[in-house]
Amino acid sequence: MDKVQLTQVSKHFGDMSALRNVNINIKEGECLAIVGPSGSGKSTILRIIAGLLEPSHGEVYIDGQRMTDAKPKDRNLTFVFQNLALYPHLTVKQNIEFSIKKSMSKEVLRTHVETIATELGIKRHLEKLPNELSGGERQRVALARSLATNADIILMDEPLASLDTSLKREITDLILRIKTEEEKTIIYITHDHNEAMKLGDKILVLKDGEVEQFSDVSKVYHHPNNPFVAQFFGTYPMNVFTGDGKLFAVRREDIKIVDDGIPVTVDDVEIVGGDAFVSFTYRDQPMVLLTRDENVSVHDDIQIQFKSLHEFQ
Ligand code: ADP
Ligand code: MG
Repeated sequence: MDKVQLTQVSKHFGDMSALRNVNINIKEGECLAIVGPSGSGKSTILRIIAGLLEPSHGEVYIDGQRMTDAKPKDRNLTFVFQNLALYPHLTVKQNIEFSIKKSMSKEVLRTHVETIATELGIKRHLEKLPNELSGGERQRVALARSLATNADIILMDEPLASLDTSLKREITDLILRIKTEEEKTIIYITHDHNEAMKLGDKILVLKDGEVEQFSDVSKVYHHPNNPFVAQFFGTYPMNVFTGDGKLFAVRREDIKIVDDGIPVTVDDVEIVGGDAFVSFTYRDQPMVLLTRDENVSVHDDIQIQFKSLHEFQ
């Protein structure tokens, strides 16, 4: 059964249309990653699922029950938002305990909170108040509060945006572990498409309040619905080009330099770390390939081959 389902959800603010006809469904234990430019409606969807906003049209179902106008506390979910305020008068420990139903024994509760706090590197702050912490530490407390929950559904709005890269990696690992071990259903907004691909079973790509694509990660990555998704999603935009009256897209790493392929001339080479970004022109269109081969130079004549070329329908 679907854990969360939105049917034909739209949201207007005055005459501004923030979401139009959104249909999505998430199965129990799945993670949905939501991506899209700023203002595309990502937070609005999450707030509608959380019950903080009512849709103008359409319905929200949780566990098959209509929840469109149910209160947040009746939805069996917890959320961590970008600028989530912790309860200022509660200690870190009390803040984390807040999302846990008090059915646990004291001992189990203590171990549970300490385990999460250790994994998020905030155990030594458990007795402090939020205003005694740095921004990054407060964000980790908000995460701990969300991840310690016994609710089935966890909603997260760019929860790692203010953290540094190594901590981000550790916390995405932790979120994955909790998702798998505790079968949580997670809906996760991020600007970081690597994070989206790592965590998401499915990806929702939004633009101007409309669904551009809603499908498996590999489908979004290799078989985008349209040129917008092709150029928006991923660490680098896909090459989009026309040939024989058709429209194609190909990932930079799916263009290989080979001995007997299509001849092209290198226009530019940029080396970043161990990667070489090789620009060339194909059928009068600028393209870029990504290779580990650093011996390619400007004006070289090379031969290329497309692997996994996507044709738009
Ligand atoms: P995202 O999270 O993708 O950046 P949002 O869902 O926050 O986008 O916002 C989508 C659009 O709806 C934006 O244009 C935003 O300005 C508008 N919007 C969001 N909340 C409100 C509100 N409470 N009142 C008026 N407009 C809003
Ligand atoms: Mg937002």
